[in-house]
Amino acid sequence: MAKYKIVHDIEECIGCGACAAVCDNWVMEGDKAKEIETEFDEIGCNQDAVDSCPVDCIKIVEEK
Ligand code: SF4
Repeated sequence: MAKYKIVHDIEECIGCGACAAVCDNWVMEGDKAKEIETEFDEIGCNQDAVDSCPVDCIKIVEEK
């Protein structure tokens, strides 16, 4: 089982593109962002995506 999981509140996403600019796990799809991989063992640049999001709609949760 993967260690971390992304929870993206797509309703809150304003489509600014910041996450996709800093992390290649994020792509823009229309006016919303989408993660490519949702579960992973290493946070990597997904942490940058979290930190760059102006509306805090990306969370990384640790799987138990
Ligand atoms: S940084 Fe946040 S608001 Fe901007 S596109 Fe990514 S998820 Fe959406």
